[in-house]
Amino acid sequence: MNMPEPRENLTLRRVSRIIKGMPATDGAGVELTRVIGQPVLPMLDPFLLLDAFRSDKPEDYIAGFPPHPHRGFETVTYLLAGRMRHKDNAGHEGVIEPGGIQWMTAGKGIVHSEMPEQENGMLEGFQLWVNLPANHKMDKAAYQEYSAEHIPLEPREGGIEVRIITGVTSKGTKGPVVQPLTDPLYLDVRVPAGQTYFEELPEAHNAFFYVIHGSVGVENEHGKTIWLARDNLGVLTHGDVIKLQVAQEDARFLIVAGKPLREPVARRGPFVMNTKAEIQQAFEDYKQGGF
Ligand code: FE
Repeated sequence: MNMPEPRENLTLRRVSRIIKGMPATDGAGVELTRVIGQPVLPMLDPFLLLDAFRSDKPEDYIAGFPPHPHRGFETVTYLLAGRMRHKDNAGHEGVIEPGGIQWMTAGKGIVHSEMPEQENGMLEGFQLWVNLPANHKMDKAAYQEYSAEHIPLEPREGGIEVRIITGVTSKGTKGPVVQPLTDPLYLDVRVPAGQTYFEELPEAHNAFFYVIHGSVGVENEHGKTIWLARDNLGVLTHGDVIKLQVAQEDARFLIVAGKPLREPVARRGPFVMNTKAEIQQAFEDYKQGGF
């Protein structure tokens, strides 16, 4: 992953599927777009869910996510605009601001609320769920939280800018969030019109990109360039390198990759375990106030 010299024989990652999010309502009535975790893409191991939200209408987000539990995985909130207040049953509380990340390891259980810290204006961001392996699902809950100024910005040639939330770029810039269990990479990339962005990813990681602004060109498995519009997700084949092109309009996109766990997944609502019995246990523990 850390290789300053260009290498020969790198395999290009191509787009294998293009996924459009579906409108969904969650929490106490928040309107969002479910991209991963919907019928056409139930998961992309180790990623269980990707929700995108973007609205300047308070009625779409004001109800927020009142107290609810999680067990067995991690929730990752990345805000582009607006503010969200987070509060849990262990006394942890804070506000996520634009450009800030909250990487929460729910582990054996947490009950938290996620509420907009605003009554109007734009709220925009993402929530990603990252699975945990069987032997770490019952770990103690933990947080990795970083505001925008603690997320490194890597300038590239041609005015390209990469924010590194987690993982390491080919130029050696490292993001602050650490998760050796799935070894994730999470990048927020801005590419000016006419430029092409290259990056190396761990070969066997599952990976996708999601277009926030502009349109992004990527080769499909027949070598033809396909253009993905805003709010589309491209699932990438395995390989060493991604190559994303930008035409006449500046673009912004996320790139997310992680090591697949290849374990059975049993999920129901806010619990993601390996077996049905463990899901029943989670409901039982939650009912008994054991979180
Ligand atoms: Fe939550």
